[in-house]
Amino acid sequence: MNFLEFARVCEQLEGIPGRLAMIDLISRVLPTLSDEELPVFIRFVMGRIFPDWSPEKLGIGPSLLYEGVAYVAGIRKEEVVRIINRTGDVGKAVEEILARKEQTSFFSEELSLLDVYRELAAIAATGGVRSQKEKLRVVRKLFGNAGPLEGKYLSRIMLEDLRIGVGEGNVREAIARAFRIDSYQVEHAFQAINDLGQVALLAREGEERLKEVRIELFHPVKMMLAQQGSIGSAIAENGAMAAEYKYDGSRFQFHKSGGTCRMYSRKLEDVTDALPDVAELLMKSTNHDVILDGEVIAIQDGRPMPFQTVLRRFRRKYGIDEIREEIRMIPNVFDILHLDGETLIDLPFSERRSRLILVVQDYVAPQVMSADPEVIGTMYQDALAAGHEGLMLKVPASPYTPGVRGKNWIKIKPAVDTLDLAVIGADWGEGKRAHLFGSFLLACQDSSGSLIPLSKVATGFSDEQLQEMYALLSDRVISESGKEVRFEPGLVIEVGYSEIQMSPNYEGGFALRFPRFIRLRDDKSIDEIETLEGIRDRHSRQSANGKG
Ligand code: AMP
Repeated sequence: MNFLEFARVCEQLEGIPGRLAMIDLISRVLPTLSDEELPVFIRFVMGRIFPDWSPEKLGIGPSLLYEGVAYVAGIRKEEVVRIINRTGDVGKAVEEILARKEQTSFFSEELSLLDVYRELAAIAATGGVRSQKEKLRVVRKLFGNAGPLEGKYLSRIMLEDLRIGVGEGNVREAIARAFRIDSYQVEHAFQAINDLGQVALLAREGEERLKEVRIELFHPVKMMLAQQGSIGSAIAENGAMAAEYKYDGSRFQFHKSGGTCRMYSRKLEDVTDALPDVAELLMKSTNHDVILDGEVIAIQDGRPMPFQTVLRRFRRKYGIDEIREEIRMIPNVFDILHLDGETLIDLPFSERRSRLILVVQDYVAPQVMSADPEVIGTMYQDALAAGHEGLMLKVPASPYTPGVRGKNWIKIKPAVDTLDLAVIGADWGEGKRAHLFGSFLLACQDSSGSLIPLSKVATGFSDEQLQEMYALLSDRVISESGKEVRFEPGLVIEVGYSEIQMSPNYEGGFALRFPRFIRLRDDKSIDEIETLEGIRDRHSRQSANGKG
């Protein structure tokens, strides 16, 4: 497949409003692709480059991309930024810039889908001092051979934000339809191998191949997630529940094979080098080859420390030895997904738990199994008194469903009105804070994963937190005009508010009253932010309560 053909498919998809027509179009393309092209197409059409399990990062920021495009078009980088500000979209801007260039250039090679993938993979593999130069060279080469339409989608792929509304759900359905396979089997295989590209290849070989999939060591799977609920209704619906403390730290997945181990964060980044102490503790706790799921917390004087302390450690790349002296990190293991070559996710939780206790000697989170709301209620009070966040109630018969926020895990914690939202823009601060961002534009997501602005937040930040925000966001700037900047979306924060209001000021029709910053949630990925549906829901519940 030529990259131009791929771009044309994207263009068509971008113009299709309905989900079914999208699935239909993708399902007609898939059988025409070679085995090598199929997984690449699948990832690209979702705006991804590498399998979801892969910690590989492209590492091209907006700035490098603009520099490459400017060079190819023979204009200044500032001019590129100006056009992006005018069009409000990097893809459209690059399309416009390359259309002007096209009239003047004669030499260009045809780009294939696989050429683009190989070049991008090579960029991701470049490290070291020369890497920026090398990356720029490849970016120039790619844009040098790209026409306007190719450039539009190439730039969006480089920023991993394709904006054509094709999410995992649509692609799963398209694979099922293209290769005549039950969509449950596609989803199930995806949960275990965490790469729809690979799933498509297996689906082409037949349903039996899909059924055989196993979790592989060092290919992290998505974490199973929880829904909010209450003790009473959880027990009424399910009978006896397995209750554990809800630790307020950071999620990890630990993979061990013989003497080797890796740890992954909730976003499936490899965080082993940031947490050598925790990895060491877990290595010593078992002689088996395992994948463990757990939460790491920081302890000082016997009590858990604020969650921010833990997150900072996850981010930390240097000076690990000094901090590890100060803060003790303790893993709490609550699940096992793989044991000595066997995939366990389809076993009932109670069965997985028995294996866990059998093979892991330390750090297994204590558990109480009970159908008595009073017993669980007492445990909840104990959890809060000990400084934990609350309880997790788990259905003993439930499988482990990677990436699913279902009813089999119920979180019980004190009610707070907070939302996890994506930071998509900011205004520069004033006075003393003029060199930092002062207020931030926040977005939720609609059902297709598009970001919908919801509110600005300017209060609740300490000076230190504003500096931290700046450090995390400064190389995500996509465009800037006057005092306003736009970011490549990626960072998630938790905000409090007093009320959700209807508002014509934002396209989603809602705004937050008195928003305030609570904490960074850079352990969460952008697809975990609040949905517009959720906001609507909260708004109507709030109206029913006489507020708003
Ligand atoms: P939330 O982030 O509020 O959706 O809550 C779910 C998170 O709680 C999980 O992703 C874990 O990081 C964390 N957690 C803490 N303790 C547990 C536990 N015992 N079982 C499962 N998840 C836990």
